[in-house]
Amino acid sequence: MKFCSNCGHAVSRRIPPDDNRERDVCDNCGAIHYENPRNVVGTVPVLEDKVLLCKRAIEPRYGYWTLPAGFMELGETTTQGAARETLEESGAHVEVGELFTVLNVPHVHQVHLFYLAKMLAPDFAPSEESLEVKLVAEAGIPWQELAFPTIHHTLKLFFQDRAEGRLGDGRPRVHQLDINRPMRLAAPAANLDGAASPSSASAPAYGA
Ligand SMILES: [Zn+2]
Repeated sequence: MKFCSNCGHAVSRRIPPDDNRERDVCDNCGAIHYENPRNVVGTVPVLEDKVLLCKRAIEPRYGYWTLPAGFMELGETTTQGAARETLEESGAHVEVGELFTVLNVPHVHQVHLFYLAKMLAPDFAPSEESLEVKLVAEAGIPWQELAFPTIHHTLKLFFQDRAEGRLGDGRPRVHQLDINRPMRLAAPAANLDGAASPSSASAPAYGA
C-alpha cells in the first residue's frame, strides 16, 4: 500500500506503538492498515464415482485444471462462498457437505477450505472463469496439469479416503495441511507459461 485508503495521504511502513510487526501507518489520519490472510473456499463436487473439474480461463494458472474455488466475499459464510464459487465456475448446483481440507498457504497469505459437495444434477457448463468443465473418474485426473498444490492434495486425500471407505461413514474428518512453498508443476502444453508464479502477481489472485 502506498496511499492511505482512509484519507489518501502517503503511508509509511513501521511498527506502531504496542505492536510487534511492521504495518502501513498513515501519518496524516493515524489509520493503521492491517493485512491478514484471505480465505479461499471451494468444493469437491461429486456425482456417482466422479468429481467435477474446471479448466481455468483466468490467470494465474490459465489452462490448468482446478476444483471450483475462489475468494470468500464479505457477508457470506464459508459454505455459501463454496457453493457460489462452484456455481460461478462450473454451472453446477451442489449441496455442500462436510468440511474436508483446511490448507494453510502462508507464502501467499491464504487459507484454503474445501468442502465435500453433492451435485444435485449432472448439469454443468463452461463459464467466463472456466474454459472447460468435466466430470472425471480417478483414473482420468490430470495430475500433472492441476493448477495448485491445494487442489492436488485435496484430490489425493479424497481418493485415498474413498478407497479406504472413509467417506460418508458418518464420521466427519478434516485434513489439515501446511503448504510452505510452491510446488513445481509441469506445463500442460507448450503455449502455456507454466512458470508463472501466483505469488509474484500484483493483482490479488489465489494460488499456491
Ligand atoms: Zn490516512
